[in-house]
Amino acid sequence: MHLPLQLPSPLQLLPLPAAAERRVEVWLKREDLIHPLLSGNKWRKLKYNLLAAKEQGASSILTFGGAWSNHIHATAAAGRLSGLNTIGIIRGEMPKQWSSTLEFAREQGMQLHFISRESYRQKENPEFIQQLRQSFGDFYLVPEGGNNEPGVKGSAEIAEEIQMPYDYLCTACGTGATLAGLARSAQGKKLMGFSALKAGDFLMDTVLRYAPEAAPELKIISDYSLGGYAKTTPALMAYIVEFHRRYAIRLDPVYTGKMMMGLEDLICRDYFAPGSVIVALHTGGLQGISGFPDLHKALFAR
Ligand SMILES: *Cc1c(COP(=O)(O)O)cnc(C)c1O
Repeated sequence: MHLPLQLPSPLQLLPLPAAAERRVEVWLKREDLIHPLLSGNKWRKLKYNLLAAKEQGASSILTFGGAWSNHIHATAAAGRLSGLNTIGIIRGEMPKQWSSTLEFAREQGMQLHFISRESYRQKENPEFIQQLRQSFGDFYLVPEGGNNEPGVKGSAEIAEEIQMPYDYLCTACGTGATLAGLARSAQGKKLMGFSALKAGDFLMDTVLRYAPEAAPELKIISDYSLGGYAKTTPALMAYIVEFHRRYAIRLDPVYTGKMMMGLEDLICRDYFAPGSVIVALHTGGLQGISGFPDLHKALFAR
């Protein structure tokens, strides 16, 4: 696979006034710049899955996601770029009006198949997977969100790329696969996982499942999930618009916006000792902003 990827992803000092006042440094690792269509941690989680699919001689990969899924978007693009057919099993009945994510996936050649929310819950049931094989022929399966061993392995490479000394490594979390990868490779660092879901306790289980020997210093923070997955507040939207105005960097309201708002709040509360160096991942996800039309207008207006 010869994809034009910007790797290692750039590290950029973020001049947050609240950080400078406290002699704390915040660096953003710009995973969002890896590739215009295949950005962020979704590329990390797909990398070894694509290689395994090729090694096994699979011609198709099948995966799962919702109508605005960053993972569906990335898988569709990755399949197209690497010459693999893609099948997307989408949660919920086919909508009358397709999201831009689904339109994009279809344009990339992904075969989309809509199932009820009830059936979707079977997505890890072997019998259900067997039924899918009968319907779609043989395929390489990538679980929802790229949450599997190859996904964790790819995520571990993020921390391996960081060449400078630092103390804290922060990421937004959905399934926790990215955090588990960091737990493997960022030994001796303090990890902070900002949950995009209301109750992020399961994230610790994910880390322990994939990185049982790592025993990292790890904190799961659910205080900034703002009521749950993809829930937003006017304050969050204003924060993202202001962040873009200050730094010309776009954040998304599901993952990176909540993480940065949380991180800045913790800095203001003197959570970090003077001299601390923090690396925060910009995990991408910008395609999903289309699901928030007012924010999209504010961030992409010329
Ligand atoms: C999917 C996603 C995450 C969460 O990654 P997990 O490995 O599922 O925890 C974080 N940020 C963005 C932008 C994402 O798209």
